[in-house]
Amino acid sequence: MSALDAFLARMADAYHLGMANAVLNWDQRTYMPHGGAEARSRQLGTLAKLEHELVVSTQTQDLLAAAEEARGEHAEDSAQRAMLRVARRGMDKAARVPTDLVVRMTETCALGEEAWAGARADDDYARFAPWLEKIIALKKEYAAAVMPGVPIYDALLDDYEEGMTAAALDPLFAELKRETVPLVAAIQTVSDRVSDELLTRDYDEGAQQEFGRKILTACGFPWDRGRLDASVHPFCTNFSPNDVRITTRYERNWMPGSLFGCLHEMGHAFYELNIDPAYEATPLGGGVSLGIHESQSRLWENMVGRSGEFWERYYPEAQAAFPRQLGSVPRDLFYKAINKVSPSFIRVEADEVTYNLHIILRYEMEQDLLNGRLSVKDAPGAWRQKMRESLGIEPPTNREGILQDVHWSGGGMGYFPTYTLGNILSAQFFEAALAAVPTIRTDLRAGRFSALYEWLRVNVHQHGRRYTPDELVQRATGKPMTLAPYVGYLQSKFKRVYGL
Ligand code: ZN
Repeated sequence: MSALDAFLARMADAYHLGMANAVLNWDQRTYMPHGGAEARSRQLGTLAKLEHELVVSTQTQDLLAAAEEARGEHAEDSAQRAMLRVARRGMDKAARVPTDLVVRMTETCALGEEAWAGARADDDYARFAPWLEKIIALKKEYAAAVMPGVPIYDALLDDYEEGMTAAALDPLFAELKRETVPLVAAIQTVSDRVSDELLTRDYDEGAQQEFGRKILTACGFPWDRGRLDASVHPFCTNFSPNDVRITTRYERNWMPGSLFGCLHEMGHAFYELNIDPAYEATPLGGGVSLGIHESQSRLWENMVGRSGEFWERYYPEAQAAFPRQLGSVPRDLFYKAINKVSPSFIRVEADEVTYNLHIILRYEMEQDLLNGRLSVKDAPGAWRQKMRESLGIEPPTNREGILQDVHWSGGGMGYFPTYTLGNILSAQFFEAALAAVPTIRTDLRAGRFSALYEWLRVNVHQHGRRYTPDELVQRATGKPMTLAPYVGYLQSKFKRVYGL
């Protein structure tokens, strides 16, 4: 057995522990009764401890060192060399984090998430506040351990987006805000041109579920390798490249919530399903960064699912699924309704234009909370104030404000910016796909997704973590990440929708 193989066998054990952890996590968010929370947090903690101890043990470190010594056996641009690079980065980071901190974070976040779900349901911020306090303290402790000497926010960001920093995000987000705010303002002056009333009619949950499944099937979701369930907050997870789990949530009076939740999570699922099987259980298995991951979900949700072409093919089926609600509604009105731009409280239901303003709000608040410029007690007020400043509205409850997202309760701080990076990249990838395969738009009209799917599989999905996010974007699109395709997409689409 080569030195690399010996190391990889060891890493596979760690990977399997991580996947077992993911199963328990999925169960907690979908089916577990509330009473299971305490014990579940300990189970997750134990698995996280075993995984971490295995990764940072002297034996694993020695195996990696030996594999690195023998690196000359593999070509510089080989997958094996990429495995060593990714493994070294992960090992160095993991080794700097004490196991007891890993366990405390895992347990606290599992309980914090449970507390958040209850606090959100009852609109009771006071119940969640002590948990947020604890989680912020843990994240600061973690940041100082994992990347000492680096700003707290950058250290957290690096776990989700290799090499990304607040200094790089600030100008990008500022430019995006400059482009977005005038567009939102222009749309506001003609807001009566689009109504989404037809989407707020009474949509039976069972019918929504059936239609969502139909659309997933049409797009090629492989039911023998995936499942769809319901959860408080939609998500996608996977336990192997052949077992992805997606969730959505159903609201009687907001039909697009479940539908676009399905399409969004399906985009994440496609990425994981298409990673080269040879990378399974190795350091190259899994998506390369959350930004790239989100580009895939947003591409399917927005560029495909909210396009006029898509509904040319599927609107008659939507009418058949919801005859009372949509039977007499012309397709054009439906298309405009699902693309209505309007400042709103809930991020996951926000339109494409205002969406990033929700992210920038969270990005700014996270930095203030972590840097001590904002206290947990004052956070709901700061949230309302920022909403007023950027979107001109103020949520009447914390449920529609600071309590709406699961992320902070689960320890996901520094995570939100990856959503906007995903939006930016979704347009860049889609543009590159259209340039390479000009028939994609015609295909969408006919409900044919294979050419687009294949372009994404070949250029993005299959590589897993073989290239860094920057390298992957450069290879797939011929240039580094750039805002232009996304801004161009938003401007042209929404000026058309609103006749500007
Ligand atoms: Zn997503």
